[in-house]
Amino acid sequence: MTECIFCQIVEGDLASDVVREGSEWLAFRDSNPQAPIHILIVPRQHIASLEKVSEQNSLLLGHLLLAAKTISQEQGIGSDYRIVLNTGEGAGQSVFHLHLHLLGGRALGWPPG
Ligand code: 5GP
Ligand code: ZN
Repeated sequence: MTECIFCQIVEGDLASDVVREGSEWLAFRDSNPQAPIHILIVPRQHIASLEKVSEQNSLLLGHLLLAAKTISQEQGIGSDYRIVLNTGEGAGQSVFHLHLHLLGGRALGWPPG
């Protein structure tokens, strides 16, 4: 079995609270939420980080962002939400399978930590 936990979630080998899915991506609740709504949107394909993305993945990136928009509306936070894409350990990336964080449901400060 793959060591990547998000690949395991995509394959259904690791349980998750799925909120929506598309042919190329899966969206599920973060197990350690930082806001009332905290959802991760991950490509089904294993890509370690944004640094590993190429031109070939342009459409996929667009689909991930559009999924975030759709889910924000479904979750009732469509007017105020934040999308985060941590890239690299120094920026807080801890799971090396590309993912967007969709955060909302509370006031979000700026700048982020
Ligand atoms: P990163 O720090 O890489 O940007 O974000 C990884 C996120 O994955 C963290 O917010 C963390 O709480 C979440 N996470 C880690 N392991 C699991 C898991 O097994 N299930 C779910 N649903 N979320 C996870
Ligand atoms: Zn993976």
